[in-house]
Order: sequence, then C-alpha cells, then structure tokens
Amino acid sequence: MESPKYPSRCVERFLEYVTIDTQSSEDSESYPSTPGQLDLLRLLVDELSELGLDDVTMDEHGYVFATIPPTTRKKQVPTIGFIAHVDTSPEVSGAGVKPLIHENYQGQDLVLPDDPSVVLRLKENRHLEDQIGQTIITASGSTLLGADNKAGIAEIMGAAEYLIAHPEIAHGPIRLGFTPDEEIGQGTRYFDVERFGAVYAYTMDGETLGEIQDEAFSADTFHVAFIGTNTHPGFAKGRMVNSIKVAADFVGRLPVDRMSPETTEDKQGYVHPYVVDAGVERTSIKVLVRDFDTEGLQRMEQTLEELARRTVADWPGAEVETRIEESYRNMKEVLDCHPAVVEAAIEAIRRAGLQPRLQPIRGGTDGSRLCFMGLPTPNLFAGEHNFHSRSEWVSTRDMHKAVEVIVELARIWDERS
Ligand SMILES: [Zn+2]
Repeated sequence: MESPKYPSRCVERFLEYVTIDTQSSEDSESYPSTPGQLDLLRLLVDELSELGLDDVTMDEHGYVFATIPPTTRKKQVPTIGFIAHVDTSPEVSGAGVKPLIHENYQGQDLVLPDDPSVVLRLKENRHLEDQIGQTIITASGSTLLGADNKAGIAEIMGAAEYLIAHPEIAHGPIRLGFTPDEEIGQGTRYFDVERFGAVYAYTMDGETLGEIQDEAFSADTFHVAFIGTNTHPGFAKGRMVNSIKVAADFVGRLPVDRMSPETTEDKQGYVHPYVVDAGVERTSIKVLVRDFDTEGLQRMEQTLEELARRTVADWPGAEVETRIEESYRNMKEVLDCHPAVVEAAIEAIRRAGLQPRLQPIRGGTDGSRLCFMGLPTPNLFAGEHNFHSRSEWVSTRDMHKAVEVIVELARIWDERS
C-alpha cells in the first residue's frame, strides 16, 4: 500500500464519526429532524476550532460553517467551498455502528459477523476489483456504515488539517459546510448561501475514485387526485363512483416497458408512482417525475396529465385534480455557465494520479439545489459504496485520494487566479 501524499487523520476521524447515530427521519417536525445529527455537528465545531480554522459557527438550524484562512498573496482568488452532510439514510439503522477494518483485502468474501447473511462478494461488487491489497472498512452486519456521507466529512476535515499544517501551500479562502437532513431532501432548506460566502463549491458525496458528477436529474412530483362519489354500497347502483377504481385504472395505463424506473437506465427519464392515499370518495397518488432534460420532464408531465384526463373521461361522474411540485433541476444547466468549476476538478483528479470521469447521477444531490440557489456545486467522489445498505463500504486509499483532490483543488484555484 502506498502511503498518502497528503497524510491526515481522515480515517481515524471517520471511524469516530460513524459511531454517532445521525440517522435522519422523514416523520419529524423538527430541524434537524433528529438530535443525533447535532451531536456530530457539535463535535465538528470542536474539531474545527481545535484545528485553528476561522469563523467556526453553528447556526440555529445546525449548519456548521468554517474558514480555512487564505495563505496566498494574490488578492483575487475566489472563495471555494467543500460541503458534506452529517445525516445517514432513514432506510437502514445507523445506531451502534461498529466499523470493521479489513486490511490487505484479497478478494475474499467479507462476511459481516453481526448478521452473516450480509456478505460482500467480489462478483457482486465490481468496484472491489480495484481494491486488492487495500484496506476496506465495513459495518458489522446489523447497521449501515454511514460512509455516505461521513467519508466526505472526514476527507474535508483531513484536507483542512493538512492545509492548516502546511501554510506553504498557497491557496485562497476556503469555506467548509456541514449540513443536516440531506437524505430526506431537506439539506439545503436553511442553507444560507450568502453567509457561506463561497463563489463555487463541491459536495464530497460521490462513489468511485475519479468520479465527478456534474449532471443530475431534473425532478418534480406530479400530484394527481381522483374524486368519486361515495354512497352506502347496498344502495349504490347508478350513484357510486369509486375513486379507488379510477385511480387503479390510471396506474394501469402508465407505461411499463419504458418511462419507469424498472425499465430505464443511464440518461433515460421515468415516472414513478410511489404513494397512494385511497378512499372511495378521493384517491390521491404521488408520482415522481425524473429526466435529465427539463423539457423532457415537462413532456412526461403532459403525458401524465393526458392519461389522467382520459381515465376520468371513461368514468362518468369522476373528476381529477392535478398539481406539479418542483423538486430540483439538472445542475448542468448552471454548471455549463461556469465551466472553470468542473475543469478545476478534472485537473485536481488528474494531479492525484486518477482518471477523471464525468458521470451523470440518476438522482439529486444538495448541489442540485445549491446550483439554483446561486452556488455552482458539482459532486466529487468520496469513495462511498453500496449507499443506504448494510453492505456499505469504503476504502482507506480512496479516502486519502479524496483528501488529495481537495488539497489540489485549493492549489489550482490559486494558480488559476
Ligand atoms: Zn449522501
């Protein structure tokens, strides 16, 4: 194993962060949605202060911001930011995480002791092929690991530690941001872009070594409600209109062989009914609509609208209401106007000795929203694998490489200013 070019305590930090239960919750009224997230955010405040960063703050919503003070003599170096989220997925428990270290991985099955049915097999995890001889970290079988996104946090902290210890590296002002509730789609809800003060930023929340995600879905939710007429079923002849049946008819008309998550990949979009609230009188359905192209998104919404109208036309007495709720837009629309942001990332990844790969995400990131809030923010690899599952893993080499990329980015923005 080669030793890291920019050594830091990022792995040790990571092993500590994952033991704090920061699972977020969709059913919470508070912000952050769970108190455990504040425990990690507070720990980060302490660590940032100890490291000697400037302006270390936690605001009333829990957002932690800090500054690595500039070392450059140049005046015009833009402030760049690095962002990661503290919460873990609501889908799998993050309580009592016991990280396991598998040194010198040789391609063997990794059986996780707390539930031996959880096994990481090389043939099912093609990214493990690149990890022979490396150190892999997994959870113990009963929980997720939380590499998503604590690997990113540890990498940002590792880079901060290195830069503070090496003031001879010239760089401009660097802002760090740690956010709650990303996994429930609320990570940027109270993110104060102006107070963050960066001109460009990077989320460290991607998967494989070398990846840059500069393109994500454009996303909406299509709300459709079918309204019927309820009567006593014993006396319903000619009077009852059962909205459950109308809604079922509508769902039955949705395309199956295309435009659905089960049958699309790469850059194809889809519509995805995922919540139904049913009663005879009123049945409402939430449909996720996703496409890389915002016009394509609108075309799919028109298709849904027409299908809904045609369905009610076949059910006399039934009515339909529809509403579109915007979720986020493809970050590429914004990043294309600021090509230097992705170019700098490509160069930093090259300098770390890696092959840069631009990768669209079939999802969204906090960067998707930040881009449209005025902060162009692509997503960079953090080495996270098997997100939101008990077989989540990360390799220590990949974490050190991500630290290297952050440090190189700091240099590159100075050189290019
Ligand atoms: Zn994440």
